[in-house]
Amino acid sequence: AIVVAGAVGALSEIMGELARAAGATERLFDLLSIQADIQAPADPLPLPVPPQGAVSFERVSFHYPSRPDWAALEDFTLDVKPGETVALVGPSGAGKSTVFQLLLRFYDPQAGLVRLDGVDVRRADPRDVRARLGLVPQDPVIFSADAMENIRYGRPDATDAEVREAARAAHALDFLEALPEGLHTFLGEKGVRLSGGQRQRVAIARAILRNPPVLLLDEATSALDAESERLVQQALEELMRDRTTLIIAHRLATVVNADRIVVMEQGRVVASGTHAELVRQEGLYARLAALQFDRSAAE
Ligand code: ADP
Ligand code: MG
Repeated sequence: AIVVAGAVGALSEIMGELARAAGATERLFDLLSIQADIQAPADPLPLPVPPQGAVSFERVSFHYPSRPDWAALEDFTLDVKPGETVALVGPSGAGKSTVFQLLLRFYDPQAGLVRLDGVDVRRADPRDVRARLGLVPQDPVIFSADAMENIRYGRPDATDAEVREAARAAHALDFLEALPEGLHTFLGEKGVRLSGGQRQRVAIARAILRNPPVLLLDEATSALDAESERLVQQALEELMRDRTTLIIAHRLATVVNADRIVVMEQGRVVASGTHAELVRQEGLYARLAALQFDRSAAE
């Protein structure tokens, strides 16, 4: 139970989301598949100020504690420059979410180094590391609270005006204002249930409010209607502007717009480049692009 409480605490540092709402807890546990047994250093190194938003993985190999003979990442190297947008693509089980888990420092790799702004994350205070990372999960949690509070989870000291501005930037203000009591409408299990696209825009508003130098985005796999799709895409563009973004991508529009695409398979990088470069190589990426991406999203 102690481990569980610690992990939920860690999650709230990232998303500013607390597991208060009935129903939310379960999913948070799911998301974390709890094992937060990392050691915080006694004498942590400070991260450079101001934040740069540089991320690097240097020859990282990692296996989950429950599977010691099976590598989730193997000799994985990735260098993300400040402001760059890198899309991670690959089949289910390739290790994409594991990359996020190591950067968030839910686990430490058995070999190699993970750095944030040049500092080995094992040598920094995990709270400092997580304070520079903003996570937008695949299926965001909506709490039993009003819309205003749901967005304010991104930054608890934000003013009402800042919450409204974040909602506007996330293309969420119009639908929230149209609810029976506007931004004071109660959401969640006992309130108004939002659609998938609306939940995503609330999560994007939280992240805009939080304003992290590095954004970790796990794109939703479920199909949205065309209008939601367009609004979510516009909201994401707003959020990604001028910050480093690592995105687990499922949509063609996302990969086409990325500065770089990294194709993963069985914990390794098998190809990287722009969409045009990778399609020409006729490898795994071209097959994935043909099968997996929703073509209509590119129009
Ligand atoms: P992706 O996000 O690309 O679908 P993941 O990073 O989630 O892949 O998973 C990579 C591999 O690690 C998969 O084989 C998955 O089953 C395994 N895995 C993920 N989480 C855990 C865990 N908590 N314990 C053990 N194995 C895990
Ligand atoms: Mg995943």
